[in-house]
Amino acid sequence: MKSVAMTIVIGFEGSANKIGVGIIKDGVVLSNPRRTYITPPGQGFLPSDTAKHHQACVLDVTSEALELAGIKPQEIDCIAYTKGPGMGAPLVCVAIVARTLSQLWKKPLLGINHCIGHIEMGRLITGARNPTVLYVSGGNTQVIAYSEHRYRIFGETIDIAVGNCLDRFARVLKISNDPSPGFNIEQMAKRGNKLVDLPYTVKGMDVSFSGILSYIEEVAHRMLSAGDCTPEDLCFSLQETVFAMLVETTERAMAHCGSEEVLIVGGVGCNLRLQEMMAEMCEARGAKLFATDERFCIDNGAMIAQAGWEMFRAGHVTALEDSWITQRYRTDEVEVTWRN
Ligand code: MG
Repeated sequence: MKSVAMTIVIGFEGSANKIGVGIIKDGVVLSNPRRTYITPPGQGFLPSDTAKHHQACVLDVTSEALELAGIKPQEIDCIAYTKGPGMGAPLVCVAIVARTLSQLWKKPLLGINHCIGHIEMGRLITGARNPTVLYVSGGNTQVIAYSEHRYRIFGETIDIAVGNCLDRFARVLKISNDPSPGFNIEQMAKRGNKLVDLPYTVKGMDVSFSGILSYIEEVAHRMLSAGDCTPEDLCFSLQETVFAMLVETTERAMAHCGSEEVLIVGGVGCNLRLQEMMAEMCEARGAKLFATDERFCIDNGAMIAQAGWEMFRAGHVTALEDSWITQRYRTDEVEVTWRN
């Protein structure tokens, strides 16, 4: 490990529909501005349109991050950017900006695994030391635990992510995407009281959501038109079912690892009903739940800066010729040299 007194890292994130730039100085978040590409109700976000949104905002967000932090480019030690996983065109857009700034400012580059950004940010903010991690978002669903210099995947979705299941259900009901479809489903679910029976799909340590989505789409058309349930009942039933699946697999990973901490990260992680169900399971086991709010749960630049800070201090850098992106980049591909 380098004996650098102060290390300042700027992080660039744009793997999905948020563009974020964050600056971290030795465990302190100096700034973390973000913009979200929001589509009309009933529509998802396409890679090319999302990349255009990021292109239009990225320089403004970068200036804002520097101004809010009160930092000049010369003071920065390393430029971290999301290498993957994520959508191709948005990832490329952000990587080009990171590469250009690296050459303009003459600062080293560091390509970051997005999932590891979430984990390191969660550890920094909550102080969890060695948690079993549930990473849940629009693109990812994984139960992860650290062992022997890797973040090992104990269980994951075998098809779509839990957030994608919620987002696509929101499109069926034409629920607003502002601020996010998941947030609006969470609010509607509070007013639901009839539990509609949905498939519960846990396969070993893995989970599956695509069949539940097809099923509830069909149920929505049939039961809503017959007046057998309300949209709020469906939001409630979907949340209860898919969150129970996630709590079950997380508990099994904890039992295997003898873990006494759970950390929830990713955009779906700010759902308070998921946190409540996980907390109940933790209490029954004598374990502790750690979670963060939307500033740090939802994709942001500071999480990339924080993983970059750990990696840079451990001696990692990415050469310019290696600073590509990849849509597929598993959490367990990275050797975690910064933890014991
Ligand atoms: Mg994410």
